[in-house]
Amino acid sequence: MTRISPGAENSSERTKKEGRKILQKFHEQPTGGHLGMNRTFERIKLYTSWQGMKEEIEEYIKHCDICQKNKITQRITKLSLQITDTPEVVLQNCSMDIVGPLTQTFEGNIYLLTFQDELSKYTMAVPIPRQDASTIPRVFVEQIILKFGIPDITY
Ligand SMILES: [Zn+2]
Repeated sequence: MTRISPGAENSSERTKKEGRKILQKFHEQPTGGHLGMNRTFERIKLYTSWQGMKEEIEEYIKHCDICQKNKITQRITKLSLQITDTPEVVLQNCSMDIVGPLTQTFEGNIYLLTFQDELSKYTMAVPIPRQDASTIPRVFVEQIILKFGIPDITY
């Protein structure tokens, strides 16, 4: 047999309010230092516990501004570490660019085809007469591939 009395509901309301106070005290006090869900739970459990305490802590932390900000900051830091993907091998990432047209040289070159290795920042500039589909691949093969091997990525 279950009896529901208005008094019982009031007391559970009061417990919730008290629980919130305890949560706030443990989670936000300087020594509490915004610990995560499990550690906050373990710490409070040393002193007191109540029904639904774990869920309340979870809910509380979910709505704690400082914890949410920390979480986002951590995620962004992790993300940017992944994005800054520095190549580990020389000539793994090589960028190519064309500079010009410049003043014509005695040999008839008016462009500079430049290569830069992303890791070592080694840069090479080859004077070329035209920036067409036969000149660029030929220079690339002669100046880069025959000297250093095939780079992984070229753009
Ligand atoms: Zn917090």
